[in-house]
Amino acid sequence: MVPLSLVHNISLLVSLCLAEGLLMRWFKRRGLRYSLLMGLLFGAATLVGMSTPMVFRPGLIFDGRSIVLGIAGLFGGPWVAATAAIMAGLFRIHLGGPGALMGVMVILESALLGVLGFYLRRRNQGRLRPLALLGLGGLIHLVMLALMSLLPGGLPLEVIRGIGPAVLTLYPLGFMFVGLAFLELEQHFRMEQALRESEARYRSYVERAPDAVFIADETGAYLEVNPAACAITGYSREELLGMRIPDLLPAESMEASLRHFSNLKAQGSASGEFLFQRKDGRRCWWSVDAVKLTENRYMGYAKEITQRKDSEAARQESEANLQMLLSSTAEGIYGIDMKGNCTICNPACLRMTGFTSADQILGKNMHDLIHHSDAQGRPCPPKACRIYQAFREGRGIHVDDEVFWRLDGTFFPVEYWSYPQLKDGQVLGAVVTFVDITARKRADEEQATLQAQLNQAQKMESLGSLAGGIAHDMNNVLGAILGLASANVERQPAGSPSRQAFETIIKAAERGGKMVQGLLGFARRTTVEERELNLNDLIQEQVHLLERTTLSKVRIEMDLAKDLHPILGDSNTLTHALMNLCVNAVDAMPENGTLILRTRNAGRDGIEVHVEDNGIGMSKEVVDRATDPFFTTKEQGKGTGLGLSLVYSAMKAHRGQLEIQSEPGQGTCVKLRFPACEPGPRLAEAVEASFASAPRNGLEVLVVDDDELIQASLRMLLEALGHSVTSALNGEEALARLKAGCKTDLVILDMNMPGLGGAGTLPQLRALLPDVPVLLATGRSTQTALDLVEADPYTTLLSKPFTMDELRIKIEAVLKPA
Ligand code: ADP
Ligand code: MG
Repeated sequence: MVPLSLVHNISLLVSLCLAEGLLMRWFKRRGLRYSLLMGLLFGAATLVGMSTPMVFRPGLIFDGRSIVLGIAGLFGGPWVAATAAIMAGLFRIHLGGPGALMGVMVILESALLGVLGFYLRRRNQGRLRPLALLGLGGLIHLVMLALMSLLPGGLPLEVIRGIGPAVLTLYPLGFMFVGLAFLELEQHFRMEQALRESEARYRSYVERAPDAVFIADETGAYLEVNPAACAITGYSREELLGMRIPDLLPAESMEASLRHFSNLKAQGSASGEFLFQRKDGRRCWWSVDAVKLTENRYMGYAKEITQRKDSEAARQESEANLQMLLSSTAEGIYGIDMKGNCTICNPACLRMTGFTSADQILGKNMHDLIHHSDAQGRPCPPKACRIYQAFREGRGIHVDDEVFWRLDGTFFPVEYWSYPQLKDGQVLGAVVTFVDITARKRADEEQATLQAQLNQAQKMESLGSLAGGIAHDMNNVLGAILGLASANVERQPAGSPSRQAFETIIKAAERGGKMVQGLLGFARRTTVEERELNLNDLIQEQVHLLERTTLSKVRIEMDLAKDLHPILGDSNTLTHALMNLCVNAVDAMPENGTLILRTRNAGRDGIEVHVEDNGIGMSKEVVDRATDPFFTTKEQGKGTGLGLSLVYSAMKAHRGQLEIQSEPGQGTCVKLRFPACEPGPRLAEAVEASFASAPRNGLEVLVVDDDELIQASLRMLLEALGHSVTSALNGEEALARLKAGCKTDLVILDMNMPGLGGAGTLPQLRALLPDVPVLLATGRSTQTALDLVEADPYTTLLSKPFTMDELRIKIEAVLKPA
């Protein structure tokens, strides 16, 4: 039977050991002082045990000290064990008695075996199995049993019999349980330690973190914040701990943050970017990552990203600006990469090329799409593409003589610039800017046509004044010849050679006069007499005439518009012009052919007349020069080179246009364009009635002319007609004579004179002689002359040169009212 007091003692010591084990937690460090203290505590426990032992015989006591010292050795190490063992040993010696030696030996033995276990365990990396504990406990107490033999006399046997079973059962089991409890404690202690350390580590991380870390409850109230949170909000820790997350949010962030918070509740974590308001009022962007720690604890991790947000906003704005710029320019713009594929394009580019969306272009090869062929449809090989030159040569290219193709297969003339796209000195592709220059090209062509017309007009103008000058002098010469010849022809006996000679002279001079008229006509010195005309009528007359005169080899066709608008014009001039065109056409068809005369209404009430033949046609050089006066390709005697230049002048006088379309061997079409007939003041028709009245003789005629030839011939003519003549060489002289009392019935006044001239003289003359008839002599019926005649009922035109008959009729006509 195991004595109860021994069980009590062992239980007491076991609980003391456990209490000590718990005390160990208070000490953080394990040093010598700790060991000594622990040694003292274990020692004290043995003393308590030895003070209330099971007393086998006086001086022979049993208690649980072997367990305490074994545990002290095993868990405390040599210092703890030594301290406790010394205390226990001294106390046992002090108690004395027959068991003293054995008692001290047991103390030593259990402390030593405990320390042995301590080292074995350390070699085993601190591992200790319950079975090993039981083994160690068994060993300590086996040795204890053996040490009982040290007892004097017959005591050993008696003792072994008495408590041997308890020593081999109770003691090892007690040892094992205390050991297990210590192991547990130790582990707990170590875990606690590790936890405390890691907590400290994390705390320091959080404290030192550059970004805000905070913990909040389910209402958003801050429970913990780190210094960085204080720094980026501008609030102190105390202030923040009294606040809630929404207190930091400006109104516009509220909705997003509520969404974030409900995500966090539902999913356990959430991230987002929010605008916060600092204590100083400044707004800043935070990127927040939050996790749910427990149902009512949330940890947030916030990083300030204001700068990133600002630069993002700036980038977005500049991108938007760029986009706006690209969208609002009129120039088409697109970018290509090194393969020529489109990387970007603006709306103007799409509009001009006929595409409807950028997707149709982006990524496609632009050369194949819009630049594949030239205006003649010949393919342009990419190798020769000048757009690529930009990145081949790394410089800008400007081109304005190519075309771009539209989606619908049409093309337009284009002006483009291709510039290399550079990044860090490396060519990435090219940017092409282009404009549609259809309108500009057309304007250029019109400009060129106008310039050509102007040149022609100027040429005609100068030739005209030259011809006009020649004609004027020529008229006077002819006038003199005609005058003298007609004055003398009557005096020659009929049929005599001299009469025939005079008649020939008169004919020649008359023909010369016609030629001069022709010259003047070309020089546009005669006035167009404007009347409302129907050109169809003129053409029909013309055709009638042609059919009678030209040979049957030319077929004449008419294609006349039924409702042809009338025009304002001079029928003589136009008949003459048409005649010239028809003659040219017939000349161009020596074998046979067809002449087509066509009329039609053309824009804004104007009309067009076409004179078309299928004759030999003209080369470009001939077309260019055809209207030049005296330009002819016909053999001498056949062509004068004045035909087309007359037509040109006629058209000019009618404010119309002349266009020649011709190619060698392809025939010719001459187009005349007339403007609409605008109602307006027309020149009064000069109706000249012819009078056949009795000749009046014996007039006093004042002849004012600077040309002595004229003076002489007129004098002769007038005298032949029975009048007497006073001469004046200019207007001034004539006026002086009249003022001096010279009597006159008729004045023949030349227009072209130095000094006052005809126009200057007439008014002064009228002041002296209000109703004396005046014949205004002129080689060309200028507007000034016509105006003078119109304004004065007693003044009539006398066209130079004139025959004696013509002069006589004129004189009779002006004198008739008298
Ligand atoms: P001309 O007929 O006296 O030569 P024009 O001024 O009428 O002078 O014509 C000038 C030139 O223009 C002609 O010599 C001829 O070469 C060319 N030409 C004019 N009309 C035609 C036509 N219908 N077909 C071919 N050539 C023409
Ligand atoms: Mg001709």
